[in-house]
Amino acid sequence: MSERLLEIKNLHVMYKTDEDDVYALNGINLHLDKGETLGLVGETGAGKTTIALSILKLLPEQTGFITDGEIQFDGKDIVHMKEEEMRNLRGNDISMIFADPMSALNPLHTVGNQIAEVIELHNPGMKHEEVEKKVDEMMELVGIPAERKTEYPHQFSGGMRQRIVIAIALSCNPRLLLADEPTTALDVTIQAQVLKMMDDLKERLNTAMIMITHDLGVVAQICSSVAIIYAGEIVEYGKIEDIYEGDKHHPYTVGLFGSIPDITSTAKRLTPIDGLMPDPTKPLPGCRFADRCPHAMEICHTKSPEAVDFNGHRIKCFLYSQEGKTKEEGQ
Ligand code: SF4
Repeated sequence: MSERLLEIKNLHVMYKTDEDDVYALNGINLHLDKGETLGLVGETGAGKTTIALSILKLLPEQTGFITDGEIQFDGKDIVHMKEEEMRNLRGNDISMIFADPMSALNPLHTVGNQIAEVIELHNPGMKHEEVEKKVDEMMELVGIPAERKTEYPHQFSGGMRQRIVIAIALSCNPRLLLADEPTTALDVTIQAQVLKMMDDLKERLNTAMIMITHDLGVVAQICSSVAIIYAGEIVEYGKIEDIYEGDKHHPYTVGLFGSIPDITSTAKRLTPIDGLMPDPTKPLPGCRFADRCPHAMEICHTKSPEAVDFNGHRIKCFLYSQEGKTKEEGQ
C-alpha cells in the first residue's frame, strides 16, 4: 500500500512588494506518496517554484508569506516548524535541484570536496575514509569516474555538472527531491541522459520527486502524476493517464498541449495560448482562465469553480459541474 509523504492543503502564498500584494498561490491542494513522481506543469509565473520554496520554507524573507493552509511532510507540520528543525529537514529529508548547475556549485572547490561537505554536514562524526568512500560511491552513482573528484566545476561539461549537482542533492538520501527545470539548461541528448539517470536513481533509492517543468516530454517520461497550474491554482490534477489520455480535460490543459493531450504525441513544448495570465495583484471573483477560455460562460466571470473529482482526476471547471451545466442551459 502506498504511504503518504507530502500533503498540501489549501495553500495560499502572498508576496508583499512596496507597491502591491501579489497573490502567488491561491488554494493549492496536492499530495505525494513515498517513491512517487509528480510533475508540476504550467507557464512561467504560474506559481510552480513558489510551491517548491514553500515546501522548503525558503520564500524570500520579509516579502514572501504563507498566509493560509497546511503543508505536512511525513505527518510533520512544516508551516509552523521552527527554523532549526527546518534546517535539519532540508538536505536530510528534502533536497532541491535548480536549473542552472553552475549557480549551485562553488567554482573554487573541487567537486569531491563539495559532495563531501554535504555528507559531513549530515553525518557528523563520520570518519574521513568513510566520507571519501561515500563521495566515490555518489560520483559513480551519477556515472562520473570517482578519480575525477579532485577536479573543479569548470573542468566538466554542462551535463556532467548537473550530474554532480544531483549527486550532491542525493548524497544524504533525501526522501523528497524537488527538481526545478533540472534539464532546461542542457542540450537535448544530454537532457535525455540526465533524466534517465534521475529516473533510475529515484527507483533505486525510492526517493519521491516533484519535477517542475515546461516540457511535456519530461513529464511523460518520468512522472506518475501531474498537476497543471494556472495563475496560482491547480486547474487539473491526476495520474499521468488521466492527463495524457481520456476525454475530460480543463480547457487550459487542452490549450497547453495544443490539442487534446496524447502521451504518444511528439509535441514536447507547451503551446503558447493567446492572452496573458490575470494580474496577480487583483483577486478575481470568477475563474482565472475566463478571459482566455474559448468555453467561458456567464457564471465563469462571477464565480470561482470548485474542483470536480472523477476518481482522483480533479478538474476545476464549470464545464464538468452540475452548477455550470444548469447555468449554461438557463442562459
Ligand atoms: Fe473556461 Fe469557465 Fe471552465 Fe474557467 S470555468 S475554464 S472559463 S469553462
